[in-house]
Amino acid sequence: MSAFTESFSPSSSKPRLVVQDWQNDPQINCEICSFSPATFQQLKLAHDGDYVDGVLSGRYDNGFGNNDPAIAESLPFVAGSMIAASEYAIRNREVVCSPSSGSHHAGTDFGAGYCSFNALLIAAMVMKQKGLVERVALIDVDRHWADGSDQIIRHHGLKWIVHRSQGKFFNSRQDCINGRYMRWLNKAIADCSGADLVLFNAGVDGHINDLLGGLHTTEELAERDRAVFEKLGHKPTVISLAGGYQLDAEGTTPAERLEPVLALHRQTARIHTQLFPA
Ligand SMILES: [Zn+2]
Repeated sequence: MSAFTESFSPSSSKPRLVVQDWQNDPQINCEICSFSPATFQQLKLAHDGDYVDGVLSGRYDNGFGNNDPAIAESLPFVAGSMIAASEYAIRNREVVCSPSSGSHHAGTDFGAGYCSFNALLIAAMVMKQKGLVERVALIDVDRHWADGSDQIIRHHGLKWIVHRSQGKFFNSRQDCINGRYMRWLNKAIADCSGADLVLFNAGVDGHINDLLGGLHTTEELAERDRAVFEKLGHKPTVISLAGGYQLDAEGTTPAERLEPVLALHRQTARIHTQLFPA
């Protein structure tokens, strides 16, 4: 798969660590591609213009609840990575990764939960504006409800977007057992059949050991990813990383500390390579 990362946010370490991890893993095929930051006009397709200007200039708080200029500077790159990955996926009929997080709680004029701008919706709307898609599907398997994505879709009346967010329906392990989660997922995947592009927000914060998780075992997350990749086949798809908050307190380097999360994203990429070897 291709990954758009070269000029990614300097303020966030996870994308860089994930991409380094994948590049060093012989079980993962990964080609790195460059990209440009999103323009103001592109950000404003999904968001209120005053909100975009306010967050970028520091007048308004970002989704982290501060007005740190380093975060503001990184935000057009997060959305730019998703836009570039989407266009590449469509033009090459491939599964592509945008190693980004922090989208789905951001609405038209608000940020929350580490999400300032909604790169998922921005990318979908840019693809539509370019005439590259008729329909887009979002499969959001982050542990949390994608309330910002829902709000943007509602606000702009985006009937051409199919949005399935597991966080709206699954809040405990009990909710997921007896095949309930996989039945929901298989239906969500089936609902993507008419889409020209699928955005797969592949959070790993539903893991049983995650601070915010408690839902899925490692093997169940593998089953999730395998189902998505097998059933979507060569449909243009963009994976984004989304949430994952486990840390190894014993780790001495950033990669060692983040290893529990890196291992779960590594599993996603390995499954893709196993199913679609180069
Ligand atoms: Zn989450």
